[in-house]
Parts: sequence; C-alpha cells; structure tokens
Amino acid sequence: MRTRIKIYSHIYTITSMKLGKYSFGIGDRFAMQGEAQLRAMLLAKEYGIEICPVWNKSNREHKFIGSTPAITRKAADQAVATLGWKGSYFVDADHINLTNVDAFLPYSNFFTIDVADFIGQPPSDESLTSFVERNKKFLGNLQIPGIADELMVTHELLENVGQKFLGAIHNAGKIYRHILAQKGADAFAAEISMDEVRDAQTPIELFFILSMIASEGIPASTIAPKFTGRFNKGVDYVGDLQLFEKEFEQDLMVIDYAVKIFGLPNTLKLSVHSGSDKFSIYPVMGRLIKKHNAGIHVKTAGTTWLEETIGLSMAEGEGLALVKRIYAGALNHFDELTAPYATVIDIDKQALPTAETVNHWTGQQLANALRHIPDHREYNPNMRQLVHVAFKLAAKEGQKYLDLLAANKDIVGSQVTENIFDRHIKRLFS
Ligand SMILES: [Zn+2]
Repeated sequence: MRTRIKIYSHIYTITSMKLGKYSFGIGDRFAMQGEAQLRAMLLAKEYGIEICPVWNKSNREHKFIGSTPAITRKAADQAVATLGWKGSYFVDADHINLTNVDAFLPYSNFFTIDVADFIGQPPSDESLTSFVERNKKFLGNLQIPGIADELMVTHELLENVGQKFLGAIHNAGKIYRHILAQKGADAFAAEISMDEVRDAQTPIELFFILSMIASEGIPASTIAPKFTGRFNKGVDYVGDLQLFEKEFEQDLMVIDYAVKIFGLPNTLKLSVHSGSDKFSIYPVMGRLIKKHNAGIHVKTAGTTWLEETIGLSMAEGEGLALVKRIYAGALNHFDELTAPYATVIDIDKQALPTAETVNHWTGQQLANALRHIPDHREYNPNMRQLVHVAFKLAAKEGQKYLDLLAANKDIVGSQVTENIFDRHIKRLFS
C-alpha cells in the first residue's frame, strides 16, 4: 500500500496556480463594481488579513445578462490596475462543465468544475472495482485525526460511495484535463463543486471523494461540498448550527488527513458556496479555521447586485425610481423570476409590500428594507430575496441601468465595499 501512496505523491508534482490561504469569490453581474469589491480586500489587508479576490461568474449568469467572460476579465484587470493591487487575483469560470468551458479558457485562471449533475451516474464495473480495491485498506474503523466519532467503513459503504460519486469525479477529471491541455498546469486553479444538490455529503463521503479526486490526478485547490442546512440566496443560513459546526469541523479534518494520505496538494481547502449573507455560520467557520489553521474560500455572488439597488435607492431621483420599477416588475413576474431558484429561496408572498406602497417610500426606507441588517426594523428578507432574483429586469434596462450606476458610482460603491468588508470579512475574521 505504501507504494500506492508514493505514486500519488508523484502525480502531485503536477502543480496548480496558488490561490492563497484565504480567498473570496466576488460576483459582479454588471461588471461595474470591481474597484469597490477590491477596496474591501484592501481594507482587509489593513486589518491584517490577506484575502485573494476571485471574480466569479457562471455561464448561466453571462447568458442572463448578455455578458461574456472577456468582460469579466477586463473589469478585474482594470480594478487591479486602478487600485494598484499587488497580490494575486483570479477570474473564475463558475460552475462550468465540458459543454460551456471553452468560452472561458482564454480569460479565466480559476475553474469551478461542477459535477453535481453527474452524481449518481453509474460508473463502469472496472472503475468501481478498482476504486473498492484501492480503498479497502480503510475497511473497518477509520480513524481520522481530530474526529472523535467512529467512522465505520464497510464494503457496502465503499460500493455505495463509488456508485454515487465515481461517475461525477471521473467527469471532473475529463474537464480538468481538457483545461490543462489548453492552459498548462501553473496557469490556473481548479475547484470541484457539488453544492447544487439536495443532500449534503457526509464527511466520510468527502473522504472517499477526495480519494477519487487524487486518483484522477486533479490538483484541486478547493472543494465545495453541499453542507447541511439551507443556503438561500442573499439571506442568512437556515439550519441546525450545531450540526453545521460538527460537519464543518469534520470536513476540515477529513481534508487534512486526505491531503496527507492521498498526496493531494497541501493547499487544498474548503469552499463555501452561496456564502454571502450566511451571517450565523461565519463566526463558527471563523473559529474553526483559526483553531485548525485552515484556509477557506467563500463564494459570494449576487449580493453585490443587491448593493447596487440599495445604493441607487439612496441616490434618490432616477436611481430610486428605477429600483421601484424593478420591484414592481418583480411582483408582476414573480413566478417566472423565482421558479429557477425554487431550491434556494424562501419568499413569504404575504410579507411583500405592494408596488403602490413602495412607490411612496423614501430611498432610505427602500434601502433599509433591502439591506441585510437582520435586526433592523425595516429589513424585509422577502423583498430582498425577490429583488435578488430580479437582476434580469435590470439587465433589460440595458445602458440606462449602467449609466445610473456610473452616475452614482460613489454611493453605490460604498455600499458594495461596506457589505463585503463590514458584514462579511469582519464577521469571518473577527
Ligand atoms: Zn455553487
């Protein structure tokens, strides 16, 4: 068995671009807030924390907005040049697969390889047999340093995990090698994501998934499992905090051990998707990564678009009028806007004010309703979630929307920076 471990170490002379211990995925739907987002990383630096910015945008988002990966790259480069950012930074082809990765290849240096759709796809008999063969040394009571629970590995468990995940990780290998052939190993970082599924992966499943990733020879920088609980868009975590804490800590221990035993890159870290606004788990994650000296990647995406609506509301005048129009439109197109996000939003329709009511509000009132300050008396999570998924209505406004953002750059930008730094970074690293 020793030799096999050595073989793995040999594979991992294959390198990847270094991501850094802490990184933040920042989404910028309309490619106007790069500077404001990067300013949050500069503030973090003053605070003593180095965070690598990763501008992420999925193919789906590009389609909705009508943008291209080239635009995301240009906006990132511009923000970096303007603010004189000296650290590394990445442009993430978010949630890609083999059918859509090519358009990102020239512009991205981070690839979130999404294999959620392939979970459960049956593997070939040979690949299942060889997976079981490779991992039967773990049969019995698997002891992972730092995990007090007894993790029983049975032949049946190995077969089940293999049936469930081998097809998915084999697919990840194909995508990884496709990117590798075009870009070269040192030119990008790879993430494996399986967060967009209903069931959380257990720590023991994660352990064997990492074994598969090692066998595929993917020098993963990050892995994004589905955690227990609900990660709704733009609002706080919904779930059992103690359960989350236990799972998160076990996942950290699993990664630590898997890195050693399978020879995965020692920079491998957890990635938390829909990480924006999950305020109640931030102190938990922060404490645990500190306790175990672990890194983390937190992916936040749509939250910056919400800050744009908040800034435009505060700008009053045309900005406020436009946000009110978007809200009215969102009410009118409720079903079509919310349907694609059914699993990641929970909106109480009764708690949504009418367009008529909102039309009488001041900009400050509308901003207060949308801004995620949980104990603010005017905060309305239902409105926030609805506006979150209504970005297509802003895209429809086209140049008018972009012009208003440009005209109100300072007030909008300060919302964006404050949101990332004060409400996210500080909560995680305080
Ligand atoms: Zn995701």
